[in-house]
Amino acid sequence: MIAEDECSRHSTKLLAVADALAQIKAAIQSLVATETVPLKQALGRVLATETRSTIALPFDTNAAMDGYAFASAEIVPQQPFCLKLIGTAWAGKPFTGSLKSGECIRIFTGAVVPDTADSVVMQEQVTVNAEWVSFPAECKVLQNVRQQGEDVKQGQVLLNAGKALTAADLGLLAGAGLANVAVKRKLRVGFFSTGDELVSLEETLNSGQIYDSNRYLLHGLLTHPCLEIQDLGVLADEPILLEARLQTAAATLDVLITTGGASVGAADYITQVLQRCGNIGFWKIAMKPGKPLLFGQIQQCVFFGLPGNPVAVMTTFDKLVKPALLQLCGYPAQKALQIQAVCGSYLKKSAGREEYQRGILQQAADGSFTVTTAGKQGSHILSSLSRANCYIVLERDCTDVAVGSVVTVEPFSHAL
Ligand code: AMP
Ligand code: MG
Repeated sequence: MIAEDECSRHSTKLLAVADALAQIKAAIQSLVATETVPLKQALGRVLATETRSTIALPFDTNAAMDGYAFASAEIVPQQPFCLKLIGTAWAGKPFTGSLKSGECIRIFTGAVVPDTADSVVMQEQVTVNAEWVSFPAECKVLQNVRQQGEDVKQGQVLLNAGKALTAADLGLLAGAGLANVAVKRKLRVGFFSTGDELVSLEETLNSGQIYDSNRYLLHGLLTHPCLEIQDLGVLADEPILLEARLQTAAATLDVLITTGGASVGAADYITQVLQRCGNIGFWKIAMKPGKPLLFGQIQQCVFFGLPGNPVAVMTTFDKLVKPALLQLCGYPAQKALQIQAVCGSYLKKSAGREEYQRGILQQAADGSFTVTTAGKQGSHILSSLSRANCYIVLERDCTDVAVGSVVTVEPFSHAL
């Protein structure tokens, strides 16, 4: 059992959310192990090494338009001219002859521009008569040619280590011919629900029981290309069993998450179990919902004991677990996007804890933002969480918010 003085030492502290986050950041380190994966599997993963292009992009100087290519040296500006048509360059099938002064070739977008040419005039501007092409006075030379290496030089860095790979990055790497890429290995994250009242979805509910929402909520929140997640099921409120199962799970995971049992009720054992089998970093934060958040370590595994109420699971996940997971995966640190919005609802709030109320953010035609409450704010009210698209962030010391006040809003972003 957790020692009485240890329990009260942790319980008297209500850590500010920013301080909790700072403690978490200081306590964890990014993964170092890497693996090489095919490009398509690299979406959303974190690049392990600086990646350079072994080729210039574009590889060849090529046409940006369907038209006619020629050398401009002997063309007199602002005068019409006529060139002899001597061949065609197709995308994938270059013109193999030699193009001299007074001549042009038909060329298609992406086709190699011959060394001796420097201009492509679009086909809509010219008149073709058998083997002669007439160019009008207003057509411009030195246009519509994409230069070799103008996007990326040979040997140039394409992407730096630590880049979270986007669709555009996959396109860039593919363009450079890179079929495989070295990324950080996946983070192994497991989660349990705890509580004697929880039953699985296949069972019929009896009075006193509830269906387990949290494992489904967490499944959704944790679905990400950098995470290998394990739904570990439900554990009863039984300290010996909890300790054994948490220890076993922690041995093979990078991060272990539990929900429920982290508060001060007689059946809330997670804190004392962590005290016995691991280390407590902090317990309880000045956040609503989400006060009974527990952070610590079991062996090498980072541990989060989240509250039982589903809304508190999501707020604590978004504000504290998600930044930790991103840091562990090697993602660049990013602050949640904040928007100032005029509040269209009266919001009840007591001083003492930072609050994350669920709101509905809308942008008017003139670009201004308004936010209204998504409904009842109890930490068990999943329907308002489901309706919401943002948090209304209310500072620790702020009290009730009047209609028309400007508030800070954080849009939900569940792509990690
Ligand atoms: P606890 O922190 O264990 O006291 O739980 C707080 C509240 O959250 C209680 O009403 C629990 O029944 C509820 N709760 C705990 N776990 C879950 C879960 N997995 N799904 C839905 N509600 C839960
Ligand atoms: Mg419980």
